[in-house]
Amino acid sequence: MAKVILENLTKSYRKSVAVQNVNLEIKNQEFLVMVGPSGCGKTTLLRLIAGLEEPSSGRVFIGENDVTDLPPRDRDIAMVFQNYALYPHLTVFENMAFGLKLRKIPKKEIEKKILEVSSMLGIEMLLDRRPRELSGGQRQRAAMGRAIVREPKLFLMDEPLSNLDAQFRVQMRVELRKLHEKLNATILYVTHDQTEAVTLGNRIAIIKDGILLQVDTPLNLYHSPANLFTAGFIGVPSMNFFNGIIMSKENELCVAVKKCEIKIPREKEENLLPYKGKEVVIGIRPDKVLLEADPCGEARFKAFVEMTEPLGSETYVYLKWEAEKTDREGEIDRLTAVVRPSMPIQVNQELFFSFKFEDLHFFDKLSGKALDF
Ligand code: ATP
Repeated sequence: MAKVILENLTKSYRKSVAVQNVNLEIKNQEFLVMVGPSGCGKTTLLRLIAGLEEPSSGRVFIGENDVTDLPPRDRDIAMVFQNYALYPHLTVFENMAFGLKLRKIPKKEIEKKILEVSSMLGIEMLLDRRPRELSGGQRQRAAMGRAIVREPKLFLMDEPLSNLDAQFRVQMRVELRKLHEKLNATILYVTHDQTEAVTLGNRIAIIKDGILLQVDTPLNLYHSPANLFTAGFIGVPSMNFFNGIIMSKENELCVAVKKCEIKIPREKEENLLPYKGKEVVIGIRPDKVLLEADPCGEARFKAFVEMTEPLGSETYVYLKWEAEKTDREGEIDRLTAVVRPSMPIQVNQELFFSFKFEDLHFFDKLSGKALDF
């Protein structure tokens, strides 16, 4: 049983707080991905779990045991870190065999395991090389292999795919998922790459400035972000944001965006009523921005096409959206839309777009919290 519980975990350094009062349960056999921008405290969290850092306060539990005061070697964890050092004087085979030999596993069994794992990682032809004779990506795979052959119940992985080329990264993501199913291990995986996070994780933990902002499945994070940061971080291209004012008109609540007023459905009024008269941040996913010759959404806006990116299966359209005839005249917002590749759109073209109320997300301007969460 390798569930991990972090209880009020804090790590402060002399000049900064890397991890702030984190409470998190990683379930047994879960693949949990921690994601956040550079410097947000991801690596520090992993190091706290591994026992490589001592918390300033809080506890770490693995299984039923409080391991906060245990040294790393007593925690039965396999670590694959970004620059994880292989033993330089040993070959890849010997590096992978090292931990197994210590556990007195029969030679034949060690060989069988190493062959199986190395072929899965595509390094079977490199087994007799030393680390200095490998590329960065090959070294990373060898380090991964060394962790995998041990079959521990808990893996801690810190950007283990960061040195791989794009194609191999995708391949390794699939292999990692398969590996997770096969080993029934608990994996805690750190990355700053949201695509990696959503493709790998059963759940994703979003971290910013050492604070755990939201933990949920990839789809829940995408559809119901709890805050502006999660909303902008999950999803490619990122969610568009713009301002709107909640107001009442003829006894009905509506939101004013530029010069359009969009009626708020009755069932949504309760969440938005306390914001009457106030400015809120509105978010919309790029694939929900409707660019049609005759937009059918509830509000219709004029924009200019600044740039297009034809990706083959879809086209990204970068729009400049100017506020007209409002008290915020002259304000320019930029929006990204995703459209079918067959749609004829030219740079500098003027066009109309719209959106449906049900596709809008609302956030508090000051706290960034989702209003309909
Ligand atoms: P990256 O994605 O760039 O690896 P990260 O999210 O893993 O970043 P951490 O390495 O955990 O971030 O660092 C979190 C914060 O703690 C940063 O502000 C960093 O400067 C600070 N920090 C990390 N280690 C130390 C240390 N030994 N002494 C002082 N500050 C540190």
